[in-house]
Amino acid sequence: MKEGMRMNRLCIVVPCYNEEEALAYTNTELISIIRRLMEAGKVDKESFILYVDDGSRDNTWNMIENFHKEYACVFGLKLARNTGHQNALTAGLLVAKDHGDMVVSIDADLQDDVSVIEEMIDKYEQGYDIVYGVRKKRDTDTYFKRTTALSFYRLMQLMKIDIVYNHADYRLMSKRALEVFSGYTERNLFLRGIIPLIGYRSTIVKYDRKSRIAGESKYPLSKMLSMAFEGITSFSIQPILMITNLGLFIVFCSILAAIYGLCSYLSGKVVAGWTSIILSIWFIGGVQLLSVGLIGTYIGKIYIEVKHRPRYNIETNNLMERPHEES
Ligand code: UDP
Ligand code: MG
Repeated sequence: MKEGMRMNRLCIVVPCYNEEEALAYTNTELISIIRRLMEAGKVDKESFILYVDDGSRDNTWNMIENFHKEYACVFGLKLARNTGHQNALTAGLLVAKDHGDMVVSIDADLQDDVSVIEEMIDKYEQGYDIVYGVRKKRDTDTYFKRTTALSFYRLMQLMKIDIVYNHADYRLMSKRALEVFSGYTERNLFLRGIIPLIGYRSTIVKYDRKSRIAGESKYPLSKMLSMAFEGITSFSIQPILMITNLGLFIVFCSILAAIYGLCSYLSGKVVAGWTSIILSIWFIGGVQLLSVGLIGTYIGKIYIEVKHRPRYNIETNNLMERPHEES
């Protein structure tokens, strides 16, 4: 290996759920790209593909086993039951990090352009630890998917959650980035939110996303909505703060209403009883919302604490290089 070059054993992790229709094509494509990269000396000869079968009920696992018999660079990981894309991907990443130096995650339907893997590796060689695959445009998506995706990113921004625009789970991560990732032990996984928290140098590569090669999407509307909800509630206590602010605003309105009521009462232009009823409704309502918001804020803090996320990730520590004093 050339001096200064980073270790370059590549692992491509592919989560699969009922992908029998797509898998044969996917495997041929991935084998050809990994062989090409090996021949060009871009990756180590021991580089490999790791399929994660997420409790498929079709022929997916049999196919993976056959690939493993046929090709030395193909391996499989079978989960005992269907646990969802994010969990399956995490299982693959955590296993792959012990055997590879850089890991690329890609969906089994090859909607993401495999030819940019080479570009991702170039970025890795330049010292980047995370390379995000970002879609140039979304013209292969339906109008519905485009608009819902856009609203999702807007909502994330509003909730102050840092995610990469138009990036799904197609990315390269170095071993050391995965090592830090393994410290995020929370159960509610939203990888697109967690990965930017790791730090280290990151960059993007752009590509055109194609339509699914075969089979149908395993992400129906219900799963998409629950992923968006998971993303927000796992990363932000902003909704609770919004309740608190709304409570404050209503209490403020009730004070304005009190002044208005008092003026009307003094000028004698008011129906008897109006002032007290309106004031009670607004004031009590505001105080209740404010109280719920405050209680929520405490619960929010407990929630952040129970995640036990790493508080920081030290990239370099020069102190470690200080020579020991002779005693
Ligand atoms: N997937 C999975 N477990 C699931 C659902 C999906 O491992 O419960 C995998 C699926 O096989 C694919 C990837 O996650 O490799 C993304 O799914 P899909 O392509 O159906 O999503 P879409 O591209 O439609 O958003
Ligand atoms: Mg897909």
